[in-house]
Amino acid sequence: MNRNEFLQKLGQVKFWRTRGQRAPHKPLLVLLALGRIARKEERLARYEQDIERPLTDLLERFGPPRKAIHPEYPFSRLPKDGLWEIPGKESLPATGQGDLHRSGLIKHSVTGGFPEPIYELLLSDSELVQQAAQALLYEHFPYSLHDDIRTAAGFPTEFLVQEPPGLPYGLVVPRAPARPRDRNFRHAVLRAYECRCAACGFDLRLEDELLGLEAAHIKWHSAGGPSKVPNGLALCSIHHKTLDRGALGLAPVAGGFKVLISAKVQGESDATRWFWDCHNAPLRRPRSSEFKPKAEFVKWHTREVFRDPPQDSSSSDTN
Ligand SMILES: [Zn+2]
Repeated sequence: MNRNEFLQKLGQVKFWRTRGQRAPHKPLLVLLALGRIARKEERLARYEQDIERPLTDLLERFGPPRKAIHPEYPFSRLPKDGLWEIPGKESLPATGQGDLHRSGLIKHSVTGGFPEPIYELLLSDSELVQQAAQALLYEHFPYSLHDDIRTAAGFPTEFLVQEPPGLPYGLVVPRAPARPRDRNFRHAVLRAYECRCAACGFDLRLEDELLGLEAAHIKWHSAGGPSKVPNGLALCSIHHKTLDRGALGLAPVAGGFKVLISAKVQGESDATRWFWDCHNAPLRRPRSSEFKPKAEFVKWHTREVFRDPPQDSSSSDTN
């Protein structure tokens, strides 16, 4: 197994995707396993002690809002992609589709991890660990969340990179973002909103340079959202981050949209009140109606990202 063979395999992992639903289960399990390697931990992780809680936590925080979370699915499905090994898998009780039961994983103290050649390769090449993590993050999440996910997956601080938006250096996973971001996106979105945050009006400048104002995708670029103004919003850094993380949502009102703050958001200081005050406030309208957010992108964000209210679970969306 060499670098390219590994990256090829990673690029061929089958992710369940339909109707724009997010399927971050396998990527988050692989990221968790890469985090273990970055910490030089042993190859096989125990499902109950090492995987279930941290993977549930990652899925709750960075997966789509769902009532039921099934960390056992990616754990038992990843071996088919050649990236995971579960010693003794054949003798474990499974469903008709070949999924291992959570109770069996726990009862038999099942372990899992990268196959030996992949583990050895990654252990000797931390740059490859970083590259694989970056490829998965770019394929499944907006960059504003990348370091949060790395941290939650247990990567040591030297792996945090504060990436700029756009294609990461050295990315060679075949399926990773084929569509480079539209370079004009930021400029066009900021212009459409007259260089103010669409949620709070923030427009700080140092001389002529805008500070802390960004162009956000409503439907994530990684989920196929286009880099076009009707899928964009000019937002200050805080509103951009909270939109991507699902703390801030949008809802249609007559003639436009309003801002929603998730009921799960907390914070008590006077300074934070400013954030709460945006709840139910009208979203600033762009300077022309052709730039208005498209309802389908807002619906996607409400269903796949916004943390409130939780959506009905669907067992089929857990790749
Ligand atoms: Zn703002």
